[in-house]
Amino acid sequence: MGGYSPLVTRDQAKQDDQEHQTQSDWFDRVPKVELHLHLEGAIPLPALWQLVEKYGATGQVASPEALEARFLYRDFNHFIRTWMWKNSFLREAEDFAFMAEAVARWLREQNIRYVEAFYSPPDFAHADLTAAHITDAIREGVDRVDGIRVALIADLVRNYGPKRGASTLDAVLEVLDRGVIGIGIGGSEAMYPAEDFATIYERARAAGLRTTAHAGEAAGPTSIWGAIRALRVDRIGHGTRAREDAELVAYLAEEQVPLEMCPISNVRTSVVSGLDDHPIRAFVDRGLLVTVNTDDPAMFQTSLAHEYRQLAEVHGFSRAEIRTLIDNAVTASWLPDEEKSQLRRDLEQDPGWVDD
Ligand SMILES: [Zn+2]
Repeated sequence: MGGYSPLVTRDQAKQDDQEHQTQSDWFDRVPKVELHLHLEGAIPLPALWQLVEKYGATGQVASPEALEARFLYRDFNHFIRTWMWKNSFLREAEDFAFMAEAVARWLREQNIRYVEAFYSPPDFAHADLTAAHITDAIREGVDRVDGIRVALIADLVRNYGPKRGASTLDAVLEVLDRGVIGIGIGGSEAMYPAEDFATIYERARAAGLRTTAHAGEAAGPTSIWGAIRALRVDRIGHGTRAREDAELVAYLAEEQVPLEMCPISNVRTSVVSGLDDHPIRAFVDRGLLVTVNTDDPAMFQTSLAHEYRQLAEVHGFSRAEIRTLIDNAVTASWLPDEEKSQLRRDLEQDPGWVDD
């Protein structure tokens, strides 16, 4: 299985899930916030399987088990190819509403109360849908689920280049009333550097959008410096490879630049050799503003509870520390100050904090 790292294996994740199917534990119960989750990578496998069947694609993947087996990656590029393949089953507006509803429902079941979720309009040229259609459908889907608030971040997807990014931004600016609050760029950081998107970010900011960029995931510290200096981002997506540059780590600590860290994602795509190799513990101890997220939970066999549970086990995070990490996500969110305070009060009053 090539670079697939064995530390948090599929079997362990499964066993972990099974153990908690009968009785939810503290990690399941506590109220949580997600800032780095791609809706298309979070579609629960049973829902994706329904789309596979809808489009008669059981020749490509024969069973739900085969679908699950497909989500193992040799390396980051293999992951990107699998991501595109999975997107080929999102073709009509109603598929996006179906996906968004399924994801919101799944997150709600885990007591995730607020999420700022990416969606990637440029990935769906095959679907003959405009960014506005996709945004409408996603908003319709998430609004069918009570008890969770979903804000949207449009991923301009750097692999299509800055020209396409600019036109996606234009389209997104037309649908801000659907709860789109920011932009990001995912994809190949090294081949499509942040600097190429500086004008687009400037324009987004002028229109009142908040900004993040994937950096320091597949590429090194230079990509993070690029996001900070050229794009002037509000947050960094991942930031894992900041550890290769002491000056950068000092800057991130000093400026309290929020990091949307996704530990198990980094294990699955071999950005780190295993969870024990992940710099999250060092970053927290160094005083960086770290948040914990799942990235593409359906594709990485993870959940936010699973992330925190693993961090407690492998990196010795105490419950008090995990509570601080969850609070960091409120701090780093893009809610207006008043709503941030309200969310913080809601989380504090949640009965889920009670110890077992
Ligand atoms: Zn991501």
